[in-house]
Amino acid sequence: MAELNSAQTRAAEAAGGPQLILAGAGTGKTRTIVHRIGHLIAACGVAPHRILAVTFTNKAAAELKARLSLLIGDDGGGVTSGTFHSISLKFLRRYADALGYTRSFQVVDADDQKALVKRMLKNRNIATDRLHPSYMLSWIEHCKHAGMTPEQAPDSEWNGIRLHELYAQYQQELSQHERMDFSDLILNAARLMREHADVAVALRAGFDHVLVDEYQDTNPIQHEWLQLLCGEHRNLTVVGDDDQSIYGWRGADVSHILDFELSWRGAGIHRLEENYRSTGAILQLANVIICENADRHEKALKATREDGEKPEWKVCNDEYDEARQILGRIERWRSRGYPWCEMAILYRSNRQSLPLEQLFRESGIPYRIIGGVGFFERMEVKDVLAYWALLNRCGDVLQLLRICNRPKRGLGAMGQEQLAAILAASGMRAYEWLDLIAGGQAEGAAKKLVPLARLLVDVRQDMEAQADRGLNMVLEASGYLQSLSAMGELEAASRIENIRTLQDYIEISMAQGLTPVEFMDRASLLQSSEEMKGNAQDEENAVSMMSLHRAKGLEFDCVVLPGVEEGLLPHQRALDEGESGISEERRLLYVGVTRAREQLLLTSARQRRFFGEMHFPLPSRFIKKLPAEILQQESFAPLTIHAQPAPGGIAPGLQVCHPTFGEGMVLGMEGSGDAMRVTVQFRKVGIKQLMLKYAALQVV
Ligand code: ATP
Ligand code: MG
Repeated sequence: MAELNSAQTRAAEAAGGPQLILAGAGTGKTRTIVHRIGHLIAACGVAPHRILAVTFTNKAAAELKARLSLLIGDDGGGVTSGTFHSISLKFLRRYADALGYTRSFQVVDADDQKALVKRMLKNRNIATDRLHPSYMLSWIEHCKHAGMTPEQAPDSEWNGIRLHELYAQYQQELSQHERMDFSDLILNAARLMREHADVAVALRAGFDHVLVDEYQDTNPIQHEWLQLLCGEHRNLTVVGDDDQSIYGWRGADVSHILDFELSWRGAGIHRLEENYRSTGAILQLANVIICENADRHEKALKATREDGEKPEWKVCNDEYDEARQILGRIERWRSRGYPWCEMAILYRSNRQSLPLEQLFRESGIPYRIIGGVGFFERMEVKDVLAYWALLNRCGDVLQLLRICNRPKRGLGAMGQEQLAAILAASGMRAYEWLDLIAGGQAEGAAKKLVPLARLLVDVRQDMEAQADRGLNMVLEASGYLQSLSAMGELEAASRIENIRTLQDYIEISMAQGLTPVEFMDRASLLQSSEEMKGNAQDEENAVSMMSLHRAKGLEFDCVVLPGVEEGLLPHQRALDEGESGISEERRLLYVGVTRAREQLLLTSARQRRFFGEMHFPLPSRFIKKLPAEILQQESFAPLTIHAQPAPGGIAPGLQVCHPTFGEGMVLGMEGSGDAMRVTVQFRKVGIKQLMLKYAALQVV
């Protein structure tokens, strides 16, 4: 116990019975859990396999075991640990027959789930625009998080469709085929104990102690699961921080931790106050941010480390400037001796990764995206790229096949095969072939694509007049956007966000003078995950990028939080939701800030492209009013101003005119020769960076 302070030691060595460790970020909660397990094994003689540790991810479970092994030797590996899901699966493999399954049931993945729901809806003649499979699935998941079986689910209707009936059928189909989905695992494990006394007895007898990390994010069914499992011996230790509860949108209920004493009478309560992770200056910022939240357990959080360097807030011009500034800062940290793997960029929305991915790739700095897919690997991004390529006469056959039935055009697997054969026989490029059938000479499956082919031809003609509107017209007129919006509000919104981001990216690339073919090359480099891995050759030695939600429990020497603006953090959806949503966003920022050990950079942009338009976001309410002693603000340093006028007589301060963007003023220039870039404040479209060589600017 030499590695623990006295409060941690008290918690680690507490007797049996319910124990709650409620403490702020970085106070050693996870470390205390590890030591408590070590203490139970080494000092109390509990057999390792009779201890169950529930963690937030499987990776965290593996880490816990590794740390235990360091502490107490090989015995550490014998502890039973995992997530609620993985442990439930173990239970079910032993006892699923009590629920009418065989023990060799399978767990379906998201694709199978969707396919099943699609089939069900089709059989009932329910069109996807009346009820989208994704919406149906998220409704079912919601019920399962709340612990409700089809019989217990509320009698809800959606466009006249009774959802709980579909839920019942969905469950029936799954069990008929010996399948469970991911959320079934926890619900069914709880049902095992809820409905089968003998199984409950057997499962309870398996463990003498149960410990749960990140308890603030448990949902009602996980809560019940724990009550059923530990109701008898009551040896349940939970640790968490109500200020880090960030999964409310997924049904997590922070009241479980705040009301722990009510559910578990006589619980020992432990508070840890010293933070060992962050420097004093970072901690001060975290404290100031979170204390604005009403309705929280007041917690003292004291620094044990020196003050260190002040966290900084940089205001950038736009998202590409932001990415450049971040890159610059990361290189500086590197030159000061911090390794890549000790740096992380934590963003609110996945779409923020695009400018970062691009610049990191170009600069060769190794990075990896954790727990998500790279921007160009997302379904909707690939779809829209395919549409764009075909529109711009460079799409290939694979791209045409990709979107031929998105949205539905009556081209099922058979139709697509036929189409592939027709295309191969034609010996033409996909877009040439589309031009051909636009005239109407099409047979079989090809007929289904005539409307799309005509649309592309029409839009191309129109585009001569309005260059940047073309893609939008195709996405709308083809029904593609409509097909997304039927996916349920949340999912559609995030996909549409990505599409708009891609459109902005196309626009910027065109303004830089790339031809469509060059653009597709650039995109496909960003697209191939091989490339991405190639960039981060040694997985461990790379800058981490992930969403704030993913970053829970982790720590890094250097952390960047981009996009600390109204609309992103707090997110627009939370703003629409009101006070409770905003409180959760503030906790999310708190989680982000407290991941940093030594260096912390927050950035925001003066303008950000979003949904094809330039927005001028206000700085986040969470940091706006903070004094410079707490958060040092450094505005964007102006670009290097060249004294020499550039080719064409372009120079800072001059009024210029661009064929697409109209009139504006040159703010600055960087680079030289063919690579010279010029930044212009346009009257209508805001600030843009252009390659001077291709920009066709005229001095007015
Ligand atoms: P979070 O709320 O982010 O999950 P936590 O409370 O679980 O944080 P830990 O991750 O356990 O905190 O600890 C934070 C850091 O402080 C770790 O690097 C840990 O090794 C270190 N630490 C914890 N307790 C001590 C201690 N008594 N002495 C020295 N270092 C400590
Ligand atoms: Mg922790």
